[in-house]
Amino acid sequence: MCGIFGAVTPGVDAARIAAFGLFALQHRGQESAGIGVSDGEQLMVYKDLGLIAQVLDDRRLPSLRGHLAVAHCRYSTTGSTRWENAQPTLRLGPRRAIAIGHNGNLVNTRELLESLPGGRSRLAATTDTDLLTALLADDPSTDTVDALVHLLPRVRGAYSLVVLDEKRVIGVRDPHGFRPLVLGKVAPDFLDPIGQEALGLIDDAERTGWVLSSETAGLDIIGAEYVRDVEPGEIVILEAGREPRSVRFADASPHLCVFELIYFARPDSYMLGRNLYEVRRRMGIELAREHETEGDLVMPVPDTGSPAAAGYAEASGIPYREGLVKNRYAGRTFIQPSPIMRQRGVAVKLNPLREVVRGRRLVVVDDSIVRGTTTRSIVGLLRRAGAAEVHLRISAPPIYHPCFYGIDTQIETELIASRHDVGGIRDFVGADSLGFLSIRGILAALDLPYEGFCFACFDGHYPEPVPYDAASRKLMLEEPVPVHG
Ligand code: SF4
Repeated sequence: MCGIFGAVTPGVDAARIAAFGLFALQHRGQESAGIGVSDGEQLMVYKDLGLIAQVLDDRRLPSLRGHLAVAHCRYSTTGSTRWENAQPTLRLGPRRAIAIGHNGNLVNTRELLESLPGGRSRLAATTDTDLLTALLADDPSTDTVDALVHLLPRVRGAYSLVVLDEKRVIGVRDPHGFRPLVLGKVAPDFLDPIGQEALGLIDDAERTGWVLSSETAGLDIIGAEYVRDVEPGEIVILEAGREPRSVRFADASPHLCVFELIYFARPDSYMLGRNLYEVRRRMGIELAREHETEGDLVMPVPDTGSPAAAGYAEASGIPYREGLVKNRYAGRTFIQPSPIMRQRGVAVKLNPLREVVRGRRLVVVDDSIVRGTTTRSIVGLLRRAGAAEVHLRISAPPIYHPCFYGIDTQIETELIASRHDVGGIRDFVGADSLGFLSIRGILAALDLPYEGFCFACFDGHYPEPVPYDAASRKLMLEEPVPVHG
């Protein structure tokens, strides 16, 4: 996943605005956070492992000066979780200084690495983003946008980027638009009108701020107005005192990741003009139509299963109740204190409400089953809490195929649906019944055609071909260099 944000805020330090925007994207990655800033002359990056509020705190932000910023929070899909792999990546080259925040995963990393003079010895990290940054810094074009137009047609896979050079913030979306990126406008009143006036910035055009965000929720938090999506195959250039400019580097062939709508993105975000809470609620309605069951209560797996559970309850007439309490502080980076606690697994994150669960026939709604182990633990928790029956309903189809475009499900054999049919999955997780929403049901909920989306993890139709070796192993840039001869 990863969250990216970019800001151009004339007369105002952009780091604080970018940190706020990024804070709304914390759900997209919790391993590290960072910001690159420029004052129009000098560019620098600060990044570290940890949550955004830990890394970009009030002691750090005042030292990040300048009206241009890009920011990133990481969920690793290439390279392990270590400091060097945090973003934005930075290159201070002879032609340009650049910092990049990337959401997505490239599928021709090996081929690109072979084209980098000096190869892996030139990399400062083990991510495809660092490789992209090195290639961009090396490009002979004097202008960063020209360098992007030159480089990007060779780059394949998923990439929404925020790129910072000394003078500009640049937004990029790959020709498929696998990952989202939106453009927003910040009215001077939301920046610092008094400070701007003191600097001689008078008219609205020169005082207006511009931002880029993975999701519209990142605009809302800073009072920015949604302008439009960055189009697949488009470069958007943001500079102080100017309207955004657009350059195309490829024809668009849109394939937005449908999982963004099912689960990844926030329910208060909008994609393709649709509010995602509403989309997910309608998925729940379709799920109830496809997989009816009798039950006493419809219950979500919090938080992401909640909108679909509300839709299922509405369509089925079965009452909706919360029956699992989530510990909101047990994120991906939670350090489990002992092997015994590790065995407790999902119980660290979820606790059943026994009074609600006991003796009831539960219809439990979740958004996906990946490996099956978490779902099995949840069913076990509910049974131990006294549930009479557990009927699982999933607001997505079974995941048969790995994702190579920025989601960490790259090993097919780890996917339970690649090894078991629906009956086998039901038995593995210990449910009384199990139903998955179909692709047709998703499209009915979206009221959009199949063609604009990537459904590859459900149906195996990869919009961007994946070369065998790019069955892009997550740690491929950490593997020993092969010795020939
Ligand atoms: S393969 Fe699945 S998770 Fe990956 S981009 Fe396509 S729909 Fe999204």
